[in-house]
Amino acid sequence: MGGCQSHGSSAKEGDVSETGEELSAITEEKVKNNNTQAAPSLEERPYLMQGYVSARIAEIDVDMLTALPVGFDKAEWVASHTVAFFKHINLLSSALSDFCTSGTCPTITGPDGMTYYWTDEQGKKLKCSGPLYTDYAMSYIQELLSDEDVFPTKAGSPFPNGFVFLVQRIFLYLFHTLAHLYWAHFRDVARVGMHPHLNTLFAHLVTFGREFQLLEPSDTTPMEDLIAVLHPRPAPAATDRAGTATDTPWEEGV
Ligand SMILES: [Zn+2]
Repeated sequence: MGGCQSHGSSAKEGDVSETGEELSAITEEKVKNNNTQAAPSLEERPYLMQGYVSARIAEIDVDMLTALPVGFDKAEWVASHTVAFFKHINLLSSALSDFCTSGTCPTITGPDGMTYYWTDEQGKKLKCSGPLYTDYAMSYIQELLSDEDVFPTKAGSPFPNGFVFLVQRIFLYLFHTLAHLYWAHFRDVARVGMHPHLNTLFAHLVTFGREFQLLEPSDTTPMEDLIAVLHPRPAPAATDRAGTATDTPWEEGV
């Protein structure tokens, strides 16, 4: 069991009331969860409380934001969003960095205390603290985004072979970063009022990642209870996903 889970689990239920009257009033509400599985523990997963999960920075249709507009190049669309997701998530993570230390999170964890490992350049998996994993991830992504050969900025420059693979890695690290905030630091996030930003970013990232096959279902499944209430729609069926891939194959030019 990692330190982050211990940190998250050690927070008492009464902590929620510290976030203000509005949120203290929702502790008794039931979560509208359309999963058929047993209801998750709200003490363990406070982010599922209705008062939290309904908070957004604005009424935003993430499906509309995600859909590739007619006439747009798919790789350009994905690249520009990848840059934007990184900037927003890096900013949010930095703003919350005081809560995630080597003391609170000696090992970075996600839902149910699963450990996220960092893979180094030699392919070796490293167990590391929350802040170290975040630092590795953000530095890695920043370096890729700054590489003109991977994310070309000049008009007409082609995207490299393997572009999709690299973007998938970026999305996975961004997903882990947000999942860790939910799992280990949500009470802190809510206390400082950043949960509407976290919810909005997470819903948009997952929707975009699924639409363009940048996040594997196996990666997002541990957060499916939250995804189901943040963005209540059926996950793309296998035939739909295959159809999408056939219609707009990544293999063309990327
Ligand atoms: Zn942490």
